[in-house]
Amino acid sequence: MNKRALPAIILCLCCASPANAQTTANPTAPPHITAIKAGRLLDVDAGKELANQIVIIRDNRITAVGQALEIPPAATVIDLSNMTVLPGLIDCHTHLADGTRDPSGDPLTYLKRTAAEVALESVPNAHLTLESGFTTVRDVGVYRALTDIALRDAIARGDIPGPRMYVAGAYVTITGGAGALTGAAPDIQLPWDLRYGQADSPWQVRAVIRKLANNGVDHIKILSSGAVLEHGSNPTSQEFTLEELRAAVEEAQAFGLRVEAHAHSTQGIKNAILAGVASVEHASMIDDEGIALAKQHDTYLDMDIYDEECIEEDARHGAIPADFIQHDAALGQIQRDNFHKAVAAGAKMSFGTDAGVCPYGVAARQFAFMVQYGMTPLQAIQAATKNAADLLGHSDILGSIKPGKYADIIAVQNDPLQDVRALENISFVMKDGKVYKQK
Ligand SMILES: [Zn+2]
Repeated sequence: MNKRALPAIILCLCCASPANAQTTANPTAPPHITAIKAGRLLDVDAGKELANQIVIIRDNRITAVGQALEIPPAATVIDLSNMTVLPGLIDCHTHLADGTRDPSGDPLTYLKRTAAEVALESVPNAHLTLESGFTTVRDVGVYRALTDIALRDAIARGDIPGPRMYVAGAYVTITGGAGALTGAAPDIQLPWDLRYGQADSPWQVRAVIRKLANNGVDHIKILSSGAVLEHGSNPTSQEFTLEELRAAVEEAQAFGLRVEAHAHSTQGIKNAILAGVASVEHASMIDDEGIALAKQHDTYLDMDIYDEECIEEDARHGAIPADFIQHDAALGQIQRDNFHKAVAAGAKMSFGTDAGVCPYGVAARQFAFMVQYGMTPLQAIQAATKNAADLLGHSDILGSIKPGKYADIIAVQNDPLQDVRALENISFVMKDGKVYKQK
């Protein structure tokens, strides 16, 4: 086989993964037609609201959108004429498949549960996320490798309700680094799936990415700097070298996969951008040069500026280890101020919350913070729709209410362009043409 042809073939196989192939309609059954009457419809691509629109859906795809469309007689009509209708929201930084958070907040408690327990504990996380209007997530890593693939595929088969998931499979991390399970005694050998993503050279990084690609992941999560919620870690430190990060991006590209890099530290952020990642996660200590580099390289900044509220709340209740609180000191406010600078500079921004730090189902609370720190409500919504779909590389099927795209549609009572907090109370959720919530 021509070696050059290989990446393209693998890319095609990836496209057929269950994450992208959701409901498959019975080819012999007549199509199911749905018509949504929208009082207001937010066109996130054009950046404006349209009055009295009709959306026609055939099975799981949108086929037409317009003002005076004829509704086919056999259509199921959903009347949302007193609501604002908008595309399903996308959270680009979640951890849905990590199970139930231990009350101590200590990741080491994963040693008390099997992978099966963790995966099944994650079922409500997925349900809560979908019910809160997030019809797609980019899930960016699990401690027990591959529990996210199990959750993604169970949702795609229709076994359990949840958002469309694009998953990372594991954390690609240095030994003892930000994505490793740390804090155990040195003579404790962790099970394979709790040390799956550890790598300490460019070639080890490539080997881990080859395993992940072979296991069917949708993208790669690499840890460029230390972390807050991790024993023995320092968020201001650099972890992987530039050489290792470059190897990761190059190897991932060979499999048609994009890379997102966790980075708090100033240099860790710059290295990730220079290596060619699609997005920098957290980006807490990004400086002016880092913002300029992100713009120059078209790198998305995926900044979780709400979850500081939950970290502080947990700290008040003793639900977080003391060393984690120390790591967090001042970082939350620095990140919010840098978010403001990045927005003002016109950097590409996506919506990511680190769901799992806060309880599942409250991600929409971040919108108000994004507005408080410099975005218009429209920009904040675009970060969670249009931009998020672009970051995933799936603007053709996700991110707006347009013919040809998946029927992932939500509705709220009020106008989120007037008050973005309207998104904290979702009245209607459709994913893949199926209604999951209507009140
Ligand atoms: Zn995270």
